[in-house]
This record gives sequence, C-alpha cells and structure tokens, in this order.
Amino acid sequence: MRMVPAIASDLPIILVFQIDKPDDLERMKHAAKSIALIAAIACAPVASADSLVCPDSGIHVEYGDVENATLVCGAAREAEALFRHCDFPPVPEKLDIRIVEDLQKGCVGLYHCADGRIELLSPSALEDRRDPEAPFGFLDARAFFESVVIHELAHAAIGETPCPIDDCLVSDEYIAYGMQILSLSAEARRTFGTAAGEPAAAPYDDLSRIMLFLAPDRFVRAVGAHLAASDDPCAFLGLVKDREILLDRERF
Ligand SMILES: [Zn+2]
Repeated sequence: MRMVPAIASDLPIILVFQIDKPDDLERMKHAAKSIALIAAIACAPVASADSLVCPDSGIHVEYGDVENATLVCGAAREAEALFRHCDFPPVPEKLDIRIVEDLQKGCVGLYHCADGRIELLSPSALEDRRDPEAPFGFLDARAFFESVVIHELAHAAIGETPCPIDDCLVSDEYIAYGMQILSLSAEARRTFGTAAGEPAAAPYDDLSRIMLFLAPDRFVRAVGAHLAASDDPCAFLGLVKDREILLDRERF
C-alpha cells in the first residue's frame, strides 16, 4: 500500500495469485536469500528500538525482533533482483523501514511517499490478523511478511514516477501487487492460482479505484488473473509503470 496524502490512508494491502515466472528469476530469488545479513547500528524512537542497516543498501530497519529485520533485508535483496529483472527502477538509496505491532485497520504495510518511510506489521501481528479466505491467506506469516516487504518496496521504487493525471493510485497498486505476486515461490504461486479460481472473464473491470477501496481482495485476485494471462508480466508492468497503459481515470 502506498500512503498518498489525503487519498489512500484507508487502503488495505492484501493479495496473491499464480504467475509463470522465468527460471532465472527463481534462481535469483534463491541467490538473494543466501546472502548473509551483516550488521547493525542502533538508535530508534520506538518502543523496542533496535535498528540495523541492510548490507550493501541504504535500508535502515527498526525492529523489535532481529529475525524480522533479517527477513526484511532478505526480501529487499529479492526485490532488487526482481526489479532489475523487470527493468524497473531500483529501491531508493535511503529508506527507513519500521516493523510495528499495530497499524490502522485493514493495513499490513504502509509506504509514506512524503518522507520515503515504510511501516510493516510484524509477522506475529500478521498472524493475529490472518484471514484464511483472503488472497494471501494460505501463506504462513513469514512468507506473507516477505511479500508485503516486496509490495511496499515496489511503491518506493516507483515513487518518483510522474503521473499524467490527478493520481495513479490504481496503476501503482497494480504494480505493487503485481510485484508481490511475482515474488512468491513457484509453489506459492501454484497454490495462489488454485485458491483464486479461474481468471475473471473481464479482469479489467475489477482493476478500478472502486474495487480497490471497496473490495480489495477482488482487486488483488484480478491483478493475479490479469498477470497470469499475460505472456510477459514484466513487460506489462513496465507499460503500467511508464504510464503507457493507464488504469486510472481522470476525475472531474
Ligand atoms: Zn500498496
């Protein structure tokens, strides 16, 4: 979810589906996971207030449980590989991520575009809120947490992308959910496809602002169905990112 001042503050984040992903991308994911986590610094204005900087990046993570910070750094590596594979902009050089135990209702992650900051619900808090019927409800808390990191980092990566109309909220959520889906393991993507059922007959109808706000699960499933039907999901996401395909409509 991207936090856009005055617009998106109530948007939930959720999702999942099946996507065919090239083998080399899968290999990159595994390679990213094997990269060790180095070190840390400290300071933080939060309750449990420890922090570290992910190795070879400018991502600063505030955490209560260092294992969760390690998950963030691993997921960030995956995100970098995925974004590079899809010819997307990289994760910003400086980014603050805070792992929290509570967020506004319906949210599991938030990207605050105004100051380049991300808040994430911890895996244990995610587990408490888990809805097995939701698109990503079949994932365990750890896998869901990692996918939410990818979602929010996708928002951060495209944060400076111009929008030709008032806002590109639907397009940006399509990209963030799309990257989240592409980041799932092959097994999870297969399960997601099974759980989500057949692709919608007219998925574009569900890729709307109204659906995003009022029926976010349906929006997410539509993103999955739409990308699953695409010959080249990366290329389509790129067209949405470049605003050559605009899923948003001008409001009057
Ligand atoms: Zn989002």
